[in-house]
Amino acid sequence: MSQLAGDEPVATVDTPRVTELVRELLIALGENPDREGLVDTPARVAAWWRDFLCPAPLSAPTCFTETRASDQLVVVGGMSVWSLCEHHMLPMNLEVHVGYVANGTVLGLSKFGRIAQRYAGRLQVQERFTHQLADEVSSAIASEDVAVAVRGVHLCMSMRGVRMETARTSTLQAVGRFKTDPVLSQQFLTLIAGQRGAA
Ligand SMILES: [Zn+2]
Repeated sequence: MSQLAGDEPVATVDTPRVTELVRELLIALGENPDREGLVDTPARVAAWWRDFLCPAPLSAPTCFTETRASDQLVVVGGMSVWSLCEHHMLPMNLEVHVGYVANGTVLGLSKFGRIAQRYAGRLQVQERFTHQLADEVSSAIASEDVAVAVRGVHLCMSMRGVRMETARTSTLQAVGRFKTDPVLSQQFLTLIAGQRGAA
């Protein structure tokens, strides 16, 4: 079984300290943390941070041998994960499409969502997320022929500053044959275009 690529140690969250800090933040924002609606907010926010930053560890990737899946393009698309932009600590929604060339080995389909979830559960930038996901999938299937396309909606663009609510950011990481074979790369893009949501 392959090792998980580029996977840093899972964060440890000091939940009692985060609770205290959120209480202080509320005070600094001119709020009264003892009023009825806010009294449990610091603990609730701290529990959310703990759950978001400490996802369950990934088990080793489940690969199946399938000799008839030789030189076949597999695309798993339309996955949606939530992450946090590390520049503003505001949510970003990432629509994820992964493609690879199966050569006798296929990766369990649910694995893609779990890998994406894991890399989303941290302070991120979309470009790094796209790269990490491509690395991890490549390591899981022990092949270089991987492409990852991500379309993100960033609340730091929609809610603040330029307020471009309809803006989307697209990133594409293509490695191996997806980089060198224009036909394969085009097939991937055509397949994901058909899977994309209306948003
Ligand atoms: Zn941002």
